[in-house]
Amino acid sequence: MQSDENNLREIRINPIVPSESVLVATARSMRPQKDEQAAPRDTREHVSKCPFCTGNESMTPPEITSYPNSQDWKIRIVENLYPVLGDDRNTPMPTFGLQQAIEGYGRHEVIVDHTQHGIAIHEMSIEHLSLLFLAYKDRIQQIYDMDDRLKYVLVFKNFGPAAGASMAHTHSQIIALPVVPQNVHDELHHSKLYYDKNHKCIFCCLIDEALTFETTIYERDTGKVLRQINVGQYVIERSEFFIAIKPFASRYEWEVQILPLSHSSDFLTLTQEQSLDFAKILKNTMTRLDAVIGGAQYNYFLHSQPRGAEHQSLSESYHWHLEICPRTSIPSGFELGSGLFVNTVSPEDAAEQLRNAKI
Ligand code: AMP
Ligand code: ZN
Ligand code: ZN
Repeated sequence: MQSDENNLREIRINPIVPSESVLVATARSMRPQKDEQAAPRDTREHVSKCPFCTGNESMTPPEITSYPNSQDWKIRIVENLYPVLGDDRNTPMPTFGLQQAIEGYGRHEVIVDHTQHGIAIHEMSIEHLSLLFLAYKDRIQQIYDMDDRLKYVLVFKNFGPAAGASMAHTHSQIIALPVVPQNVHDELHHSKLYYDKNHKCIFCCLIDEALTFETTIYERDTGKVLRQINVGQYVIERSEFFIAIKPFASRYEWEVQILPLSHSSDFLTLTQEQSLDFAKILKNTMTRLDAVIGGAQYNYFLHSQPRGAEHQSLSESYHWHLEICPRTSIPSGFELGSGLFVNTVSPEDAAEQLRNAKI
């Protein structure tokens, strides 16, 4: 099929981790077969059988903590009923030949983000979102402090069945791993290589580029304007301390990342004042996503410098961030076979729609 001149077909290289690159292909034939439909919204009302609704606290394993720490909790952290990682079993690992394994040692906890069952992030108050991210921070800190065998504490959220959520009640999860996961490792490693060469944090450079870069790309023979990159084109939101950016090499159609404007490698340095500002930019970004794609189903996750002396040297080169990945298409054989994500919406179009959304 002939592509018309507005269609992109290009492999965009992720500037931080080249192996996480993306094929941006906006030709009609690459579009999902079904038009994207607004996800059905789960009720915000109390659900009698939901283990995360108030009054049903006995349906979860023991509570770890809650905010405030009383029966009138707003946020509740509990052990996961079906943890994917757990305590030592002291059984020898069956490694043989080339086959190696390490024990699935770690922790898996659930954070009930809000008392209202199906409430979306953008419907929560700024104060509540600030409290939620401070609760993440407290718990990450506590887990690192209690066990130095845990090398990375990952906080993530699945919202909606398309994002893999099995529970409709709004929740996040904490998984503490005995290893630094490969994609965090790759970001740490590549940003360090960039730092060693350029003496600058690559994330800070990408933020500067988004705020200052302007260029026009012409066709060599005809002089026709092929592409214009404008200052601020990729900036979805900006607040006092944070920026929300649409990555040039977005793997997901509506992917947005939120980063601190000033260099900071460690999410655990987030102050109360910054968390309120973070809550604002998150709420605005999620409101934009909701306005454009309606009932976004998404994953978000925090990437931050891991704890431990071996990672201390990375504090200048790494930059913590939240990646928000709305799930509007299902990875297929192409993604699995090539490792290359296909994005059918040009990141420039997506950024424009998100910027222009009435909020
Ligand atoms: P998700 O699959 O993203 O919806 O995550 C829901 C998590 O909640 C899963 O990891 C489940 O193991 C966990 N879970 C399910 N039921 C309960 C329950 N009654 N108490 C605590 N955790 C639960
Ligand atoms: Zn519920
Ligand atoms: Zn930086």
